[in-house]
Amino acid sequence: MTKERLTYLLTGGTGYIGSHTAVEMINNGYEVVIVDNLYNSSDVVVDRIEKITGIRPKFYPYDVRDKDTLRRVFEENSIEGVIHFAGLKSVGESVDRPLDYYRNNLDSTLSLLEIMKEFNVNNFVFSSSATVYGEGNPSPYTEDMPKGNCSNPYGWTKSMIEQILTDAAVANPELSVVLLRYFNPIGAHESGLIGEDPQGIPNNLMPYVSQVAIGRREKLTIFGNDYDTPDGTGERDFIHVVDLAEGHVKAIDYAKSHKGIEVFNLGTGNPYSVLDIVNTFMEVTGAEVKYEFGPRRAGDLAAVWADPSKSEKVLGWKATRDLRKMCEDTWNWQKNNPNGYKK
Ligand code: NAD
Ligand code: UDP
Repeated sequence: MTKERLTYLLTGGTGYIGSHTAVEMINNGYEVVIVDNLYNSSDVVVDRIEKITGIRPKFYPYDVRDKDTLRRVFEENSIEGVIHFAGLKSVGESVDRPLDYYRNNLDSTLSLLEIMKEFNVNNFVFSSSATVYGEGNPSPYTEDMPKGNCSNPYGWTKSMIEQILTDAAVANPELSVVLLRYFNPIGAHESGLIGEDPQGIPNNLMPYVSQVAIGRREKLTIFGNDYDTPDGTGERDFIHVVDLAEGHVKAIDYAKSHKGIEVFNLGTGNPYSVLDIVNTFMEVTGAEVKYEFGPRRAGDLAAVWADPSKSEKVLGWKATRDLRKMCEDTWNWQKNNPNGYKK
């Protein structure tokens, strides 16, 4: 008799982190159903996941806010639990379009929770962010620190959704919620078939670096070299996206056997500076990355990194891929897909 494969719904599953998690889930014996409205991704990702794993996830091009179509997904599939990646994620854009961010990120979560309740589905893993620690806490961040003031509407959507999920877990003792606070995911699957594919000018450091290296952008501007850090540039906890994806598989295992709400940092615990990233990228790839120093970016903190010890102790998860591997895999993805998923 073959073992039954549990089915998980991945909202936003064709996005950067969702696609890598889909691969790890399938490789760990799960059946994956993806709902993504393709606002910030491509359906080519579904082909790529199939190419990597040999299994094609079921894909619905729906908006998670739309309860009628979402209900259909739950009717057609026996969903065990949900990983909720879907959301708008650009910090700068959220300052210009706050209502779109609140509407999309909050509504999608509420619709999902309501439909899960209808179908008595009680396992929920949420993509939160280190940004909820705010400006007042010193690094390394631990999960028991009080949340802080976010410097932008995107961050507030994450903080508010954490609160919504906390209240939902109090009201429904059957609910199991895992909040995963991501630090700075970079890198790509080592096949080079899936990776980060930002639309327009990248906001984040690593895609900008790799687009300069491939010749799509002229030079990187490093935002500030007068921070109180060893080389004056900002420090972050960069984590390989496949390590992050593996953290979700562990989070699902945890959610299956626990009730209530629990928070985990997904980071390495090792901060690297912007200059470390640029220099390691050039060293590993042999490609040139031109850069100049510019003013600080509004809202940026000097140094942000995780204390990941709770994740190691409770989830049995630890990031294993180093910065060289992160750079190598980013470059492999960028070289094989100079224009991302566009044909
Ligand atoms: P992404 O934009 O690549 O993926 C998000 C996906 O959600 C996209 O494919 C988009 O089309 C989809 N989506 C958005 N709104 C939707 C809706 N209403 N209905 C259906 N699909 C919708 O982003 P990512 O980097 O993979 O991030 C995934 C999650 O992790 C997001 O919630 C993001 O806020 C969070 N997060 C990301 C980072 C990071 O640095 N990438 C850091 C912390 C947290
Ligand atoms: N950064 C930079 N130039 C860029 C993009 C980012 O110098 O074009 C810096 C940014 O100031 C921060 C670090 O790189 O110190 C990481 O920024 P990113 O936007 O990738 O992630 P964040 O930590 O802001 O979520």
